[in-house]
Amino acid sequence: MTVLTKYLLLGALALSAVNAQDSSSSVDSTPTPSGDESASSPSTSPDTDAAATPVAGNGNASGFQFKETYPADSAKPSPKPEWMQIIANANITDAPVVKANGENGPQQQGDADPYCDWTFTTCTRDTDIVTCPKGQWGITYDDGPTDFSPKLYDYLKETNQKATFFMIGGQVVKYPDYAKRAFDEGHELAMHTWTHSYMTTLSTEQIVAELKWNELAIKEVTGYSPRFFRPPYGDIDDRVRSIAKALGFTPVIWNYDTDDWMVAETPGFQEQWIDGNATQWAAAAANTNEGGISLEHDLYEKTVDAAIRILPTLQKAYKVTTVGQCTGQQSYKEGTAPNNSTSAAPSASSSGVAANGSTQANGEQSKDQEGAASRSMDSRTAIGVAAFIGAVSSYLFI
Ligand SMILES: [Zn+2]
Repeated sequence: MTVLTKYLLLGALALSAVNAQDSSSSVDSTPTPSGDESASSPSTSPDTDAAATPVAGNGNASGFQFKETYPADSAKPSPKPEWMQIIANANITDAPVVKANGENGPQQQGDADPYCDWTFTTCTRDTDIVTCPKGQWGITYDDGPTDFSPKLYDYLKETNQKATFFMIGGQVVKYPDYAKRAFDEGHELAMHTWTHSYMTTLSTEQIVAELKWNELAIKEVTGYSPRFFRPPYGDIDDRVRSIAKALGFTPVIWNYDTDDWMVAETPGFQEQWIDGNATQWAAAAANTNEGGISLEHDLYEKTVDAAIRILPTLQKAYKVTTVGQCTGQQSYKEGTAPNNSTSAAPSASSSGVAANGSTQANGEQSKDQEGAASRSMDSRTAIGVAAFIGAVSSYLFI
């Protein structure tokens, strides 16, 4: 099944399911095929292969002096030779590069899923972090830093809430002061690649470059190298996983998608639906055996506003933490950052991977895509998908 077919199928399902949203109290923690990490990249970081104009190390407005000369944020960069050396003897999964159909992204060939491709089947592995333990909620914001990030930082500081920020490399170079501020205020900085591209469609060299340039920019600004990364659109398979592992990075997906980006990109999407979803998730907290990791974006003013509105709702139902805090995993390769002292808190999970049970259905999902799609057709998906039916083309072709 192609991604396009799947989306259209979901759209059709949503039409019939959307009216049931108010009566539904169940919360399906299955990541939705439609609810991928689907915010388009910031306008400042388009997913194009435009001619590279190196990002001057001193070209940002803040005056922060980078030592490195970074690749243009609009170009898919090449890795440094020494980065390729790191993985020279690693066991990289021999899976094909997934074909992309232009802006439609990865295109599935057949129904088999031998490489656990999240985009096609929502498959995850035990080594993926998908959720937090019961009672805890990892709060995550993607695609920053942007001009709207400080508003969120302000609110988090006022309320003494720490969060995980998956930052795009080019945005870090553009807004180093924002990245530094987030770090200094105790948030967990993580990676969201360099160009916000579909990782399964990239070569091994490109994947290395996407991760390592992103890491280097954050390291320059903060002195610390993130361990966590989130593949844009959730697009990951075993090849991407093995490359990331060889470089010392751990993937983080999510099990609750706010679909917040739609508020800025999808006509007809009503922002109170985001609040409605959060209310449902909170109400279901006592009835689920796992916690949550939610997907939000500090990409637009409206997504930041929504993030600020729904946080108290989540805090009432869950202990809201960073991803590192709830999983007991170290945030950075160098260890715990000075202002991030809670990031390596002890965890019941000896492996460091969230004791989430989130992967138990992977095999089923990979063999039963329609079932996965149906199971994910809960109310939040229904409203989200229904909202973008009218604008499905703009969504699919961003
Ligand atoms: Zn993103």
